Amino acid sequence: MPFRPRYTGLIDKYRDRLPVHDDTRIISLGEGNTPLIRLHNVPRLLEKDVDIYVKYEGLNPTGSFKDRGMTMAVTKAVEAGSKAIICASTGNTSAAAAAYAARAGITAFVLIPDGKIAMGKLAQAMMYGAITIQIKGNFDDGMQLVKEMTEHAPVTIVNSINPFRLQGQKTAAFEIVEELGRAPDFHCLPVGNAGNITAHWIGYSEYAPPSDGPVTEACTSCDGHCPYGGGGIVGSRPTMVGYQAAGSAPFLRGGPVAEPDTVATAIRIGNPQSWDNAWTVQRESGGWFDECTDTEILAAQKLLAEREGVFCEPASAASLAGAMRDVRDGKIPEGSSIVCTLTGNGLKDPDTAIKQSSAPVITTEAQLDAVKTAILDNMD
Ligand SMILES: *Cc1c(COP(=O)(O)O)cnc(C)c1O
Repeated sequence: MPFRPRYTGLIDKYRDRLPVHDDTRIISLGEGNTPLIRLHNVPRLLEKDVDIYVKYEGLNPTGSFKDRGMTMAVTKAVEAGSKAIICASTGNTSAAAAAYAARAGITAFVLIPDGKIAMGKLAQAMMYGAITIQIKGNFDDGMQLVKEMTEHAPVTIVNSINPFRLQGQKTAAFEIVEELGRAPDFHCLPVGNAGNITAHWIGYSEYAPPSDGPVTEACTSCDGHCPYGGGGIVGSRPTMVGYQAAGSAPFLRGGPVAEPDTVATAIRIGNPQSWDNAWTVQRESGGWFDECTDTEILAAQKLLAEREGVFCEPASAASLAGAMRDVRDGKIPEGSSIVCTLTGNGLKDPDTAIKQSSAPVITTEAQLDAVKTAILDNMD
């Protein structure tokens, strides 16, 4: 029986499109290669003829897409001789940084907003052995401190301003194109710092470079001449659509938001680090930004879990919430193929899930009659 070679992570798979050398020691946990799930029930509910796929990034090793960037960032940090990494985080970056640092045998320092982080994410940073610094401030305050700290201590920043992060994250676009045999018409993502929407655009642009001009001005890894580009593997790139939480929507307000607030803590960011790149992506792809209320976000999260069996965290559901609205309004036309990135796993934030779920939990005596009643009363 022919066996397929073991999957060993995205750097091994996309080695020729990533800035690594033959003898680079790869720090990997088998990230990437996540399922692209075609939704059956949601398009039916919308009564629209659209193909919606969700890219379930919550199935990465630490439960979010951050692992794609972190395998590259930590691999390069170790290659450069770094003994410690640092990040500011709303939770998922710290979880990924902590895990990959543990794998590499180096130290991770993580700055998180005191009290505004989902329980699962805090548990991860602690279990993976990071040194957690809870600041009495928000993500944006933490980001500022991390940038200043690199002048005072020998630590490598692994936030998405580290260009290797975006290089790792661009591989999600490769996987989507390979699986669909083409680029989707629309790609919808939740937007916080806007690193991920930028990374996807870089990936799509490498597989379908424009015939004139630079591959994409959003890529800082080259001067318009992508060392990995020129592929022309497929003929088109998607329209990129970014959704923010209404209480935390600097791209809709036209500038930083001082006190960002949303139940979607992963995108509770008022001062996005990839501001210029995100606008470049919007312009080059002909896309747009929009905002979703917390109510819409939670409704989409629940719909996806109850109707499709896919459990993502609140921030991730912003992509589907926004896409559903734009499909309903015709902004995304019928006949389109749409990919929504589900950035993180629903298990990251059990508190929010339990609080908003209306699914019945029935308590009974441990007796046949009682359980029988509970079942027969609830059959339809
Ligand atoms: C980091 C993160 C985002 C936001 O990604 P950006 O690159 O900052 O725009 C969205 N959802 C989840 C679950 C995240 O962890």
